[in-house]
Parts: sequence; C-alpha cells; structure tokens
Amino acid sequence: MSDPAHTDVVIVGLGPAGACAARKAAEAGLSVVAIEKKAEAGTPVQCAEFVPAMVGIEVADLSETCLQNIDSMMTFVESDAPDMMENFPGQMIDRRAFDRQLVEAAIATGVDCLFGVALKSVSPEGELVLNDGRTLKAKVIIGADGPKSRIGAAIGRTNTELVETRQIAVPLFKPHTATDIFLSADIAGGYGWLFPKGDTANLGLGVEARQKDRLKPLLEALHRDLVDAGRVGEKILYHTGGAIPVGGMLDPVGRLGGAAVLLAGDAAGLTNPVTGAGINAAILSGNRAGEYSSLWLQGDGDALDDYREELEDLFKPGLDRACKRRQNILQAFRRDSPTGEELRNNWIAYPEYWAA
Ligand SMILES: Cc1cc2nc3c(=O)[nH]c(=O)nc-3n(C[C@H](O)[C@H](O)[C@H](O)COP(=O)(O)OP(=O)(O)OC[C@H]3O[C@@H](n4cnc5c(N)ncnc54)[C@H](O)[C@@H]3O)c2cc1C
Repeated sequence: MSDPAHTDVVIVGLGPAGACAARKAAEAGLSVVAIEKKAEAGTPVQCAEFVPAMVGIEVADLSETCLQNIDSMMTFVESDAPDMMENFPGQMIDRRAFDRQLVEAAIATGVDCLFGVALKSVSPEGELVLNDGRTLKAKVIIGADGPKSRIGAAIGRTNTELVETRQIAVPLFKPHTATDIFLSADIAGGYGWLFPKGDTANLGLGVEARQKDRLKPLLEALHRDLVDAGRVGEKILYHTGGAIPVGGMLDPVGRLGGAAVLLAGDAAGLTNPVTGAGINAAILSGNRAGEYSSLWLQGDGDALDDYREELEDLFKPGLDRACKRRQNILQAFRRDSPTGEELRNNWIAYPEYWAA
C-alpha cells in the first residue's frame, strides 16, 4: 500500500462511482488508495442490471458485459393490459463483470485497491479508521460508499429517504426485449420489475422503507402471477436486494479537518427517486470526482465548487422532477390508494410525468 502520509486520495467504496473516481484520479498522476468492504468487486450483485443506452459514452467497452439488448418498456398498471413504450433502448449487463471491469481499469492505472477492508469510523480531522485497525489519511477523501455512506454521514449528508428492495432471478421461458414494470396500489412508493437476461430474468420489487415487511409477500404474489401466466419458472436461482436512495441530490462537497471531501454516486443521492436507476449517475459523478480532486490538488481553489455545480447541472433537473413525481404518488398512497391514472401520471413512460 502507498505510504498513508503521502496519499493524495482515499476512496471508500469500489462500486461504479468509486472505481471510476479512482481511475480518473490515478490517470491524473495522483496516488490513490481505495478500500472496499466486499471481498471482491461486484459480489454479491445488488442490482436489476439495466442501463440506458447512453452509459456507453463514458465506459470504454460495455460489450463484454452486455447480456442482451433492450428496446422498449411495458408498463402493467394493476391488471390492465400493458402499455407499450417503444424506443426505450438500453442493455442488460452482467453487473458483477461490469463492476469487476471498472475496478480492473482502476488497478491498471496504479490504484491501490484493498478488498475485504471496511471503513469503521471517521474522525472530524479526517482520519479514517479501518476494521483491521489501520488508519488512513489523505488530502482528498472520496465517499463512494453507497446509499448509507459513512463518509457522507461524517460531513452531515445522509440519504434520509430510502426504498427497500427484494429481487430474485428466475428462468424466463420466452425471449423478451422489454423491461416490464408493474405499478399497483399494493406497492407503496415503489414498483415491481421483470428485466430479461436471455433465458433468465431479474424479478424484483421495491417499496418505501417503512413498508419493508411487505416485500416478501408482494414479490411472492408477483412471482406466482408470472408463473401462472407461463412467463417464468417457479425455481428461484438466487435472491438479492438492497437500499436505494430516493430523496434527491445531497450537497456532494465538504471538509474534514484539512481534507477535501467529495461524494459520488448513491452516496451523493444521485439515484433517480422514481426509477431507482443509479449506475449511469455513479459513473458520471465518479469520473468527475476523480477529475476535480486532481484540479483541487493542483491548486484550483474553485474545484470543489465546480464539482458541485457540474453535478447540479448534470443531475438536478431530472432528480427534482423525479422527487416531485415521487411526492405526488406518496401523497396519493397516504390519502387512500392511488388510482390507475395517478400511477401512470407519475411514471416515466407517460407524457404527464414529463409535463411541467
Ligand atoms: C435491487 C436493486 C436494483 C437496482 N437496479 C438498478 C438498475 O437496473 N439500473 C440502475 O441504473 N441502477 C440500479 N440500482 C441502483 C444502482 O445499483 C446504484 O445506483 C449503483 O450501484 C450506485 O453505484 P455506487 O458506486 O454509488 O454505489 P454502490 O454500487 O452501492 O457501491 C458502494 C460500494 O461501497 C462499499 N462500501 C459501503 N460501505 C463501506 C464501508 N464502510 N467500507 C468500505 N466499503 C464500503 C459497498 O460494499 C459497495 O461496493 C439498483 C439498486 C438495487 C438495490
């Protein structure tokens, strides 16, 4: 490991945000140490593995991790016939291979990646205490440690609104090229999904955190419906899940003692509060966190403000709209239960979502 006394950048978390930040910072000539509590990159997968087509713009080659193409979205509202949205291009990726590829690119630029090492606590002076007893200090700390970021908490930024999810992988009987979305008054503050990966599919469901206990029965019911419809198999290949931040963007910049702190990805609340999609934002913000760290260390006194401003330009309009739509639908859930029209109006496949 690099001498901690001379480390320019420490990154906590090696998901897409952390791996991209690490690579960019190392490419700029900085010494970079990254810690990740998982034993290996991307394992276990906690994702439905869909990325919109545009993600390829900032990731060199997605083709190696692409499982199949997506061309459309089908939205099922209650038991109505599905509404079809053509021209919804994207890819289903092998998220484990994808995260691994991003970490390998970081390692190739000279990043010191430590796996199986968790950040335990952070002092107000910016000293990071690891679970193996070591401590780290750096001139820049990048918090890319996901929705429940400890680095974020240390600078007073916490994702207070979360959706909790549960997902299974199941056999898929017929080839499918759409992402299927299930909206229902039973699924409070979230939705169900069936995302195809060749002959298997990710079948999952998210609800607002306080309804977490309902996840299991709701997913079992959705699974049963799809088995009965002859679309998927009964066998469950594996389970996963995790939290998704849905409260919108946090201020991604802070200070701990003499160290600058930048948050990226889920730690900065960049996941879309309606769809839960966050891979693209993690990559874009991670790349910029690495670049602005380098500018800051070269003496650009505006670099931290510029980082905040660029993230706001990139993400805030979309996140603000999604927050508004989310609040609409939550109000409908609190009032009674949302109508089909309300469910549609607050989902991205319908023009009302995009109206002023
Ligand atoms: C069930 C589910 C389905 C999803 N489906 C999609 C989808 O289809 N498409 C999409 O775009 N987005 C999806 N998302 C969201 C997407 O997975 C995230 O937005 C994305 O992973 C964010 O990347 P990140 O690098 O910011 O955070 P993460 O990928 O969460 O990476 C953070 C890393 O930090 C590590 N870490 C955390 N705490 C510590 C610590 N104390 N010490 C050391 N390491 C630590 C974690 O182990 C993790 O590896 C889904 C999320 C869930 C939960």
